[in-house]
Amino acid sequence: MPERYPIEITPPDISRYREGNTGVDYVHTLDSGKPGSSVMVQALTHGNEFSGAIALDYLFRQEVRPARGKLTLAFANIAAFARFDPAKPSPSRYIDEDYNRVWADGVLDGPRDSAELRRARELRPFVDAADYLLDLHSMSEACRPIMVCGKSEKSVALSRRMGVPADLLLDTGHPAGLRMIERGAFNDPQSPRTAILIETGQHWEKSGRGGYRHDAAVPDGYRRSRRRLGEIAAPPQAACGSAARARYRSRGRKERELPVRAPMEGARSRPEGRNASGK
Ligand SMILES: [Zn+2]
Repeated sequence: MPERYPIEITPPDISRYREGNTGVDYVHTLDSGKPGSSVMVQALTHGNEFSGAIALDYLFRQEVRPARGKLTLAFANIAAFARFDPAKPSPSRYIDEDYNRVWADGVLDGPRDSAELRRARELRPFVDAADYLLDLHSMSEACRPIMVCGKSEKSVALSRRMGVPADLLLDTGHPAGLRMIERGAFNDPQSPRTAILIETGQHWEKSGRGGYRHDAAVPDGYRRSRRRLGEIAAPPQAACGSAARARYRSRGRKERELPVRAPMEGARSRPEGRNASGK
């Protein structure tokens, strides 16, 4: 089936980030040396959704450092990303199975083997050590960016504090398997540990609906969240042009007036038309 959307953004070269400081390839932990939360930002949960890799590349280039606590930056399914082919982009979503469906203990501790399970087992200690997790995705269909909050109040509260994107999707998980944002304490209303998932727009569309700059979204959201949460030191400069930023801020003000979307039924519910990303 021919791709409906042209590849307008370029996959970043992330080879320089292979050797991290954690003993696990493509996983870096930046420690402020001061007390504070552990924050994990993960890109490439799906190998064909590389806007998150662009965002992490940006953070590394800006030499971002946490002001307090620890910040872990991880590229997840690098094996799938490595086989990205602009002529046939969709198969690079995963190698053997969806990396974002294997996060139940019974699956991680079970006897099955796959490229994604091996990688999930490597990253599990980092996920389980995170007080806050932001999982970076994009969508198959053109759509405004949304924050996927699962169904917990604390995830909605964190998403509202971040403020970007303004549209929230409250869903009930995925029937095919446990997603990272629902793993363990993330899914426990009594635990303060919180995970959310951003869908930054169509995978490869540079300028999405409403003039939204796909490849600038996460750094912009990052700067806002840093102001709100006060956890992470600011990068010295913005990722996108001033015109794009102004447009985005304007949109953000308008969007914040919108109500949170009502809880929707399962993974098939979409906020705007059909979204085949699968999260
Ligand atoms: Zn995804």
